[in-house]
Amino acid sequence: MTELLKLIRTEILEKGPMRLDRYMELCLSHPEFGYYMNRDPLGSLGDFTTAPEISQIFGELIGLWLAQAWIDMGQPNPINLVELGPGRGTLMSDILRVSNAVNGLPEALQVTLVETSPELRSKQRALLGAASWVESVGNLPDGPILFVANEFFDALPVRQFQKIGDMWVERVVVIAQDQLVVGQQKTDFKMLPSHLPDGIIVERSEAAIAIAKKLGEKLKKPCAGLIIDYGDENGTGETLQAVKQHKFINILDHPGECDLTAHVDFGALKVTFPDKFETEMTTQGDFLRNIGIHERAEALSSGKSAIVQEEIRAAVHRLTADDEMGRLFKVMAVHNGLFQKPAGFPHDTKADSRRKSL
Ligand code: SAH
Repeated sequence: MTELLKLIRTEILEKGPMRLDRYMELCLSHPEFGYYMNRDPLGSLGDFTTAPEISQIFGELIGLWLAQAWIDMGQPNPINLVELGPGRGTLMSDILRVSNAVNGLPEALQVTLVETSPELRSKQRALLGAASWVESVGNLPDGPILFVANEFFDALPVRQFQKIGDMWVERVVVIAQDQLVVGQQKTDFKMLPSHLPDGIIVERSEAAIAIAKKLGEKLKKPCAGLIIDYGDENGTGETLQAVKQHKFINILDHPGECDLTAHVDFGALKVTFPDKFETEMTTQGDFLRNIGIHERAEALSSGKSAIVQEEIRAAVHRLTADDEMGRLFKVMAVHNGLFQKPAGFPHDTKADSRRKSL
């Protein structure tokens, strides 16, 4: 039995049924045994792969979007470039590479990474060099901010509620026949809609809302950023899942040794940001197409071997196709004080001409 499993069992035996958000928090972020704390989970040898690990094009396009937002803010210097949950640092490294092509931007950038994992911090340091690290959004520096969070909010703990008849119960972890199993208990959680059908499960992430709220407090005018993740604006259903070595497993089977994620409730995040912010939302596929993924892929493929060209084509497909990441993943922009609407979203018809002005 692993140390973390012992700890979870002891806590249940002492305190009773464990809420799923507590279970998830212990599994992912326990300071000693948490999944993210002592490993690099990414890539083909790890448990899962994220968009920036699939292709450099992803980070390059995000970098161009951020650079355009900086120009549309009036090129403040200094500007804080913030990433939440940077993983291996790949996305930030691709962003910084394209920023170098933008006059005045490299000198203005001050990079701050929000990361709790010591293991991933040291990977980020090795790849990125000069940057600052903070444990939480509340410690971000003051001043204008550009930010990005890719597959960050899905790692934050959720609670699950199920409607039984006309009552809501909370799904919790209990011990039965010496095993961890999902049980249920009464809940006094108030904000659950009454119109949903019997049997339905909904998830709520108080941790995600608290972080988005803190971020909203830190963001001043001007600011712009992107939250990219899988999920939807009005999601329901059971989406909490465990992944180990690129396969789905039971969420209770390997606590602390598999990734646990849940779809992001973008609707809940959106209403967290005060009215002074504008938000935009679209699918990852449409966003990447709107900001030029095909053009960038073509440029990158030019003069390359057939094998490399095929790799680039496959990566673009994975990032954008409806049956891959293109539709399930959403992109939400949060901004305040830009001269024009940010590129890549449905209102945007001039993305191409603007991109060329960089
Ligand atoms: N954005 C990266 C990595 C995604 S994995 C990519 O796209 O490849 C999730 C990242 O969030 C990891 O870096 C993990 O250590 C970090 N993380 C998870 N929970 C966190 C928390 N509560 N505070 C700060 N970072 C967290």
